[in-house]
Amino acid sequence: MILIDGATKRFGANTVLNGIDLRIAPGEVVSVLGASGSGKSTLIRCINGLERLDGGSISVDGHDVSDPTQLQLARRCSGTVFQMFNLYPHMTALQNITLAPMEVLKVPRREAEETATALLAAVGLAGHAHAFPSQLSGGQRQRVGICRALAMKPRYLLLDEVTSALDPEMTAEVLEILAKLAADGTTMLFVTHEIEFARQISSRVVFLDQGRLLADLPTVQFFAADGGLAQPRIAQFLS
Ligand code: ADP
Ligand code: MG
Repeated sequence: MILIDGATKRFGANTVLNGIDLRIAPGEVVSVLGASGSGKSTLIRCINGLERLDGGSISVDGHDVSDPTQLQLARRCSGTVFQMFNLYPHMTALQNITLAPMEVLKVPRREAEETATALLAAVGLAGHAHAFPSQLSGGQRQRVGICRALAMKPRYLLLDEVTSALDPEMTAEVLEILAKLAADGTTMLFVTHEIEFARQISSRVVFLDQGRLLADLPTVQFFAADGGLAQPRIAQFLS
């Protein structure tokens, strides 16, 4: 379980996360909605320890991300896919995917390559294992990014606007992969502005507004007139 308790984060005088309480249990698909600047990326970055909290706590499967001695264990539990693909440009798709399993988990090369090959096939990139990022489209690169995260066999997949740099056709191919992962029971926390998609695949929707958690509701309730939509801020955002 990802356990977020009163998480608070400031940048100077700007309180970017303001006492966030949130739990993500295994098997859940939780989408995070909110306007630009509401704190969505910061929340993801605090969960994987890229940013330090100023107050409250976050633990991943019992490992406190604020404790330097537990951070590596916490990080092993989750895989993150970012908006910009962050692939190593001098490495092929296969090398990008096998690097961390070999270096961090000490998986033998042959096994790591078998896993990577299977992951690439699963996202429709069987023929692109030896392509460099520059030879791939944005949608293909993002699919490699998803494979790279999955190669570490994370318990949780954190996704931060993974389609926002993509054109509609490429967005569709990446969303299709995420829908498949969700259907397979992958636990996901995903920040998105694809509202219709969030509605289709999430079990819960979380709404952030200026660093505060305005709603945390089952998806059907979030989109119901007497649920999330009853909050003017959310109704305004969705319209
Ligand atoms: P979102 O992902 O919802 O668009 P962010 O989490 O990226 O929002 O940003 C929330 C707020 O925190 C914004 O006001 C942003 O300018 C500020 N912020 C984010 N990262 C930093 C940083 N490293 N230094 C200073 N301010 C930051
Ligand atoms: Mg963001």
